[in-house]
Amino acid sequence: MLASRSYEDSRGFFYLPLYVESCWGGMMAILEEDKSQIIDTHAHLDDEKFHEDREDVVTRAKETGLKYIINVGCDLSSSRKVMALAEEFSMVYAAIGIHPHDAQGVNEGVFRELKELSKHNKVVAFGEIGLDYHYDFSPRELQREVFLSQLDLGKELDLPVIIHDREAHGDITEVLKSKCYRGIRGVLHCFSGSYEMAKECMNLGYYISFAGPITFTNSRRLQEVASKVPLDFILAETDSPYLTPEPYRGKRNEPMNVRLVVEKIAEIKGLPYQAVAEKTLENAKTLFGLS
Ligand SMILES: [Zn+2]
Repeated sequence: MLASRSYEDSRGFFYLPLYVESCWGGMMAILEEDKSQIIDTHAHLDDEKFHEDREDVVTRAKETGLKYIINVGCDLSSSRKVMALAEEFSMVYAAIGIHPHDAQGVNEGVFRELKELSKHNKVVAFGEIGLDYHYDFSPRELQREVFLSQLDLGKELDLPVIIHDREAHGDITEVLKSKCYRGIRGVLHCFSGSYEMAKECMNLGYYISFAGPITFTNSRRLQEVASKVPLDFILAETDSPYLTPEPYRGKRNEPMNVRLVVEKIAEIKGLPYQAVAEKTLENAKTLFGLS
């Protein structure tokens, strides 16, 4: 529109169409780049913060280039909800499990139902499971018990595990290294440990997933870890509705913002966005067995 009007209105701007054309070429390149498909490997779409506009959130994610969203359960009731959402939206897959916060009250019946739920063809992982020594909402001994039982389940069902580790780096590494849990595949979600810990986990075959905090200005240490972790081991996630990346920090997070995490990883590593988008998608497809 601008090009043709300017061209007709003023011969003095004879070269304007060419100029606009080259800008459009640049724009097309950006749009091309936008088409790179990505994946949010960790979201909580069942959260009540999405009650008003869940469908719009999924539509926006799709329009931003997301191919899949892994929606992660925290307890039995949210695990049932993530199953329902996986049935409702074709791009949404499910992870089921008990978060360390919810370790209290877990019994054999809960594990039996999780096992039953895991038979659904859209369940791609066990999670999130792990240890949280920051909030200590459940006694640590109980957290460990529930964590170990779910690692056993993951192993038995041959499902990868999504691990939550908050200020429990030593215990998490020790558990994953122990002989009985060798061979389990998985990811350390929203990684917050040192590079040494990342290395130990990668040696065991685990992926390292980065979320919004990697974009925060005060996260130099985490950015340094990301610079050293090979792209072959990296996943990207949002942990929506939490951990909103810059420049939207403070607002509700949603899966389309995983683009900002991918962009940050690309910037840290000095790689094109597209390369990181493609590789993180490929890594996630391998881990979660997505076609
Ligand atoms: Zn989470």
